Amino acid sequence: MRNQQATQLLFELSRPGRRAVQLPPCDVPTRPIEEWIPAEALAASPPPLPELTEPDIVRHFVNLSTLNMSVDTHFYPLGSCTMKYNPKRNERLASQSGFADVHPYQPETTLQGLLAILHSVQEMLAEIAGLEAVSLQPAAGAQGEMTALLVAAAYFRDRGEHRRTVLIPDAAHGTNPASAAMAGWSTIQVRSTAQGLVDLEDLSRKLSSETAVFMMTNPNTLGLFDGQIAEIARRVHAYGGLVYLDGANMNAILGIARPGDFGADMMHFNPHKTFSGPHGGGGPGAGPIAVTAALAPYLPVPIVVRTDRGGYRLDYDRPKSIGRVRSFFGNTGVLVRTYCYLRTLGPDGARRVAENAVLNANYLLSRLKTFLDIPHGDRCMHEFVASASALKASQGITAMDIAKRLLDFGFHAPTVYFPLIVKEALMIEPTETESKATLDAMAEALERICREPADLLHQAPHSTAISRPDEVRAARTPILKFS
Ligand SMILES: *Cc1c(COP(=O)(O)O)cnc(C)c1O
Repeated sequence: MRNQQATQLLFELSRPGRRAVQLPPCDVPTRPIEEWIPAEALAASPPPLPELTEPDIVRHFVNLSTLNMSVDTHFYPLGSCTMKYNPKRNERLASQSGFADVHPYQPETTLQGLLAILHSVQEMLAEIAGLEAVSLQPAAGAQGEMTALLVAAAYFRDRGEHRRTVLIPDAAHGTNPASAAMAGWSTIQVRSTAQGLVDLEDLSRKLSSETAVFMMTNPNTLGLFDGQIAEIARRVHAYGGLVYLDGANMNAILGIARPGDFGADMMHFNPHKTFSGPHGGGGPGAGPIAVTAALAPYLPVPIVVRTDRGGYRLDYDRPKSIGRVRSFFGNTGVLVRTYCYLRTLGPDGARRVAENAVLNANYLLSRLKTFLDIPHGDRCMHEFVASASALKASQGITAMDIAKRLLDFGFHAPTVYFPLIVKEALMIEPTETESKATLDAMAEALERICREPADLLHQAPHSTAISRPDEVRAARTPILKFS
């Protein structure tokens, strides 16, 4: 259903003389404007703003808000992103004045409640990670990666070791090599096996005394837990290297396995994925990192610490610290939500999150594999990757066609064309907050789509305000003004 009202711009809706509120002329004597603003600074005529009634404006924005899909309106199985439902209570608690209206320059004595919460988040994340120390400062998962890689650089520099390279599997998220490059390392790609796991032989060939870090996502981006992780860590450590765990997929192992226990020296969390923070437009994210005791001295400042008198303070006195990676102590709003989420669930609840996320993904996988190829395995963790390769070969139907057509059925599209090692990839992550009825409806829609004529699919979506924008042009030459 195309919505004309919503897609017209306010300038197009404008009619001369329309007003939202019309007040009678002011009967309080005022000084003429020329007396307090110099004549040369005054515009000759008012700016050409749209002229609208209040209902024009309200309907415009409310209708616009319905053109997009969100977790609150639709099932959103965007692989790798963990678009789970965010409990509204967390939002209400985090927006309380004591959290939302504090200023970073306030004296610490007036921030004790917030600092107590941040300290508790540090402790809970350290426990979940199975690692000793946490910095809450990075503003996103990707910045957490970069921060940890700067911590690794400081660690090796301090030990007088000259290492140059970071090894990264070919299944990795694009942020991994980007973060490594930004932190000054050169990167080397490690191959995956046909089963979608790290190729141990290739890893061993590429490991050397130059290796600083091996970065790994586990469960990996194919939704598989790489059971070789202890052996991988042993080999990396044998060369004096460090193991970095990309924690974006913690939703699959929360409360079940701890990265520190399976060999990781450092990791990041994505609270906007695992701990129900809003993504993107919902507010800033965070990318806390956890590290071993050996790496702790290099963490960014400040760290929240307990005082002798039972209070809390920000510790800046850490001479080996890499310094700050962002202003003040990080995006605390999303960390307050993390606190609410974890305290509400408790350890048993956190484990059930992972169990249900994995159960939901396996249920959907078992329904989809009857009509779509799932190249890497019959079982998955919290997500899996299907492939439209066979459909493309036989009928010219691509992963993009399927993803676009799903919008017509009221489902947000899965992640497509990632990971790069699967052709025509559809990466599906249902999360634990969806019911069996929703998963069944999605499976039925997908099955129907796979049997639809290619022509219909190439033109999809048919029900949205915009069908298929030129994605490259939309990103490179966006039209940013109305004229
Ligand atoms: C989301 C994601 C990241 C990056 O996290 P951001 O918080 O979006 O910066 C890194 N690795 C993987 C595997 C991810 O899914």
